[in-house]
Amino acid sequence: MFLVALEEYQRKRRFSETPEPPPKVEKKKGNRFVVQKHRATRLHYDFRLEMDGVLKSWAVPKGPSLDPADKRLAMQVEDHPVSYFDFEGIIPEGNYGAGTVMVWDVGRWEPLSPVTVKGKYVPATDAEADAMLKKGDLKFRLRGKRLNGDFALVHIKSRRPGSKGNEWLLIKKHDDSVEPGFDIDRYDSSVLSKRSMAQIAGDENSAEWKSSRKASRGGVKAAWLAESIAKAEKKRLTAEHAESAEDKKSKKRSSGKATGSSTHEEKSGSSAVSR
Ligand code: MN
Repeated sequence: MFLVALEEYQRKRRFSETPEPPPKVEKKKGNRFVVQKHRATRLHYDFRLEMDGVLKSWAVPKGPSLDPADKRLAMQVEDHPVSYFDFEGIIPEGNYGAGTVMVWDVGRWEPLSPVTVKGKYVPATDAEADAMLKKGDLKFRLRGKRLNGDFALVHIKSRRPGSKGNEWLLIKKHDDSVEPGFDIDRYDSSVLSKRSMAQIAGDENSAEWKSSRKASRGGVKAAWLAESIAKAEKKRLTAEHAESAEDKKSKKRSSGKATGSSTHEEKSGSSAVSR
């Protein structure tokens, strides 16, 4: 059963090439969460909750928000191993999710009962959490460095063309942690290493690079620009990842872990959003 849990994670990756951790299911119970900022084909944030020995994962294109008015699209993606919790670095070009990964927030989470007490959410059991996830309405409380308070992940029926039925909304509940107009771009640093995305990518000396990066933020109008920048960054990564420390780590981590056969698929199309 647990092998099945990380089967998709394993199938999408070549562990002889990526520094990402191998698909091991954790036996100990835990309740951590992590948000990873991931500049892949498209910039997005990966929101992960430790549950049943894996990290339940959603790719959130605009990232989480502390403003209840922001209903953030969250595409559920394959479960990740718990050791992904502190993965930060570069996924080399040509691999699934190629690009820069930053640990944007970490902390603890707890499920909240759908039944409120005097208008307040109260903790739920793990069994209730499993049931809420299955039902597609998971309420929970976060205690992180940047994200705090009560949230809900709500499974939606999307009419998006090519929908795989994996669309959820990540919504902040009203409480003391609300921050109207929350701007995620204010935080471009790792909570683990304090590095910026540019520093993780090895770009920190390029002033020109930083200014174009700023221009890409925000609205739909800049989408074409963001795409050009993403393409440019990809080239840069290709040139630089070979010598990075992450790459050495990759070799250490993955020694003897080559899977050999899973070199196919997930190169294009529907997987782009979840990368
Ligand atoms: Mn991702």
